[in-house]
Amino acid sequence: MVDFRRLEDANPDGKTALVRVDFNVPVNDTGSISDDTRLRAAVPTIRALQEAGAKVILMSHFGRPKGKVEQSMSLGFLQMPLTELLGSPVQFAKDCGGDDSKQKAAALKSGEVLLLENTRFQNEETDNDAGFARTLADLGDMFIHDAFSASHRAHASSEGIAQFLPAYAGLSMARELDHLSQALDHPKSPVLAVVGGAKVSTKIDLLQNLVTKLDMLAIGGGMANTFLAAQGYDVGKSLCEHDLKPLALKIMDAAKKANCQILLPTDVVVAKDFAANAPHRVCGLDEVADDEMILDAGVQTVDQLADAIDRAKTLIWNGPLGAFEMVPFDTATVEAAQYAGRRVSEAGLIAVAGGGDTVAALHHAGAAEKFTFISTAGGAFLEWMEGKALPGVEILKKS
Ligand code: AMP
Repeated sequence: MVDFRRLEDANPDGKTALVRVDFNVPVNDTGSISDDTRLRAAVPTIRALQEAGAKVILMSHFGRPKGKVEQSMSLGFLQMPLTELLGSPVQFAKDCGGDDSKQKAAALKSGEVLLLENTRFQNEETDNDAGFARTLADLGDMFIHDAFSASHRAHASSEGIAQFLPAYAGLSMARELDHLSQALDHPKSPVLAVVGGAKVSTKIDLLQNLVTKLDMLAIGGGMANTFLAAQGYDVGKSLCEHDLKPLALKIMDAAKKANCQILLPTDVVVAKDFAANAPHRVCGLDEVADDEMILDAGVQTVDQLADAIDRAKTLIWNGPLGAFEMVPFDTATVEAAQYAGRRVSEAGLIAVAGGGDTVAALHHAGAAEKFTFISTAGGAFLEWMEGKALPGVEILKKS
């Protein structure tokens, strides 16, 4: 268990709590919210603070305005949806730390909520400028970090501010940290990670960290091709980073030394075209033709993965096992995810997943609800898997 200061340790009655949330919600072409998961995730902390008698100030980034005021990236459009979700009015300040914020913050009463304008409308945010962090801190009495997905960034509203105010984890952040810690820091062994996705190059640090901590590591997706090629298999025109073959061997060597069993595909699904429903066949590793590409793992590989899931008490999953956006190359991902989901309810497996396409892949498989915990964080989840210290989490740790 990470020993960090929680909302329950704070005494917010009558105080002003500055809460860092992640309202970087996806929007559709018409500018309306296509998925309000991130707004909903913030509600328990806001409500808990309101009920405890706090005045609540919300801070978030949205998009990449690069230090300029861009009206298309104003957070004003969230005022009404938030008001509806909370069932109480949410005020909006037209700046982040400027005169409007100061006036509205000073006029807040217990239980009232104020949303500040996009934190990234000034470069001082991403520069983690101490003066800007101080300006934000001056608006309140305590800092609540409730955005794990932004915790890999040392920005003024998510890290710098904690130099000036006592910092606590919000309920959503605490839930995330508790689950992640249960999966990697203090897991029930044996621990299995399934790491898939397109490329080895984006997951080098992650693989190097995992092999030192796990009992089993299953590598799938396009990145497995690099490992297969490193072992001398001809992978035809598959996605493959040939220049990283020495690194793949190094990772396998490190795994061997650390007693981590690496599981690679033993059979594959190949096609000549990268397209949904492209004619395809299942074949052995030494049967891939020059004009074919590996787009999914085969049945035998999925069976072996199911055996590994049976042996595991903890599972960490990041990345699909094939080109899952195209039928039928989603098969291995869907079957393995469904199997893992069943083991959670039937055998008490602790299954945690996160990062980028993983959430979409598990939803596609209908397995997301069955997993113990799905992190919606992308970059922060990957950096946590890489074993890196996350600045937004470090500020919450008890010294
Ligand atoms: P990542 O963002 O690294 O997790 O990679 C996810 C992407 O990898 C998805 O878009 C998949 O379609 C893609 N992918 C997985 N396996 C393969 C494969 N064998 N060939 C090409 N792309 C793949």
